[in-house]
Amino acid sequence: MASTAGKVIKTVGKVIKCKAAVAWEAGKPLVIEEVEVAPPQAMEVRIKILYTALCHTDVFFWEAKGQNPVFPRIFGHEAGGIVESVGEGVTELAPGDHVLPVFTGECKECIHCKSKESNMCDLLRINTDRGVMISDGQSRFSINGKPIFHFVGTSTFSEYTVIHVGCIVKISPEAPLDKVCILSCGVSTGLGATLNVAKPPKGSSVAIFGLGAVGLAAAEGARLAGASRIIGVDLNPNRFELARKFGCTEFVNPKDHTKPVQEVLAEMTNGGVDRSLECTGNINAMIQAFECVHDGWGVAVLVGVPSKDAEFKTHPMNFLNERTLKGTFFGNYKPRTDLPSVVEKYMTGELELEKFITHSVSFSEINTAFDLMHKGEGIRCIIRMDG
Ligand code: NAD
Ligand code: ZN
Repeated sequence: MASTAGKVIKTVGKVIKCKAAVAWEAGKPLVIEEVEVAPPQAMEVRIKILYTALCHTDVFFWEAKGQNPVFPRIFGHEAGGIVESVGEGVTELAPGDHVLPVFTGECKECIHCKSKESNMCDLLRINTDRGVMISDGQSRFSINGKPIFHFVGTSTFSEYTVIHVGCIVKISPEAPLDKVCILSCGVSTGLGATLNVAKPPKGSSVAIFGLGAVGLAAAEGARLAGASRIIGVDLNPNRFELARKFGCTEFVNPKDHTKPVQEVLAEMTNGGVDRSLECTGNINAMIQAFECVHDGWGVAVLVGVPSKDAEFKTHPMNFLNERTLKGTFFGNYKPRTDLPSVVEKYMTGELELEKFITHSVSFSEINTAFDLMHKGEGIRCIIRMDG
């Protein structure tokens, strides 16, 4: 029987009954239900979630407007927790370890994990349509014997969840989980998209489309890289005041202009920005983000998750004129290898996380976090699982 801090864990190997926020239907408020969480199988870990936050990816798949509907489902992927028990074959994690789950994994064995350039693990890369565990095609969640589906292998809107070991990052027990939980998705994604993929040179100009947590983290990355102009682009003007704290120096609201925003940006920057990052999920913003970079050297990076039938349309001459288009999941970080160093950036004061956290609600008020995101209020809302 496993123990943590001298306490014997009585739940090891048994089904745990706990509360989870279940999405029964697309777009309908989540319902707090008692669910049964099966013990972890081989290479799986059961985690007690302490804090989780809402990311726009949860909302897109919950709305299921441009995505495949998979219901009933337990959403949630930005979180922090403590290992309760581990399945067979798990050697690098033990009960009591502090961890961050990540929606895209790192098996450490495949050609992607072995490549310095990729974080697109063959075994555990993001799969938004799968609602079951990869080992046996079953869900670990049920209510009265009826399975409830997982989301991106994490399902953190539950007091306990079961996750493949390759999607779990062990972090320092010193790191406060109520803050570093936002590194499990949004902030690392935006930061890495700039630092690892766009790589703005010192003194360069950077446009950020979408000033939610992901975009603001991308702006923070641009500031850390020494960009001299960071232009925030958003349809919601309430974002602009907030964005100043993240290094944005100028703002453009496409609604304030009659000409296309790419032309507005080209005029502001003598032909185009050096780098741009799209953090909206909107196909038009993706095209604008590409077309606003300078010819000859400009690089655009897509981060937003598009709807399933979106098509990217631009004139090929934009590429011939030496503009580059890239895209990334999780800011190109390999979760298990790289995330501890991002947590360290917070611990040493290089990266501030408090300014991203504008709201905090108890688990029973989880639907408030959805309302806030719909209204475009605040940045990240932390959901406290214990109250
Ligand atoms: P958010 O809702 O907090 O922020 C999105 C912002 O984009 C809002 O301020 C909104 O007003 C703005 N916006 C929407 N349409 C726009 C347009 N056409 N032009 C300009 N601004 C526009 O969302 P978030 O949690 O920061 O996530 C942002 C995006 O990143 C989402 O698409 C999410 O799914 C995606 N995401 C991707 C990854 C990845 O690994 N690639 C990881 C996390 C999130
Ligand atoms: Zn996310």
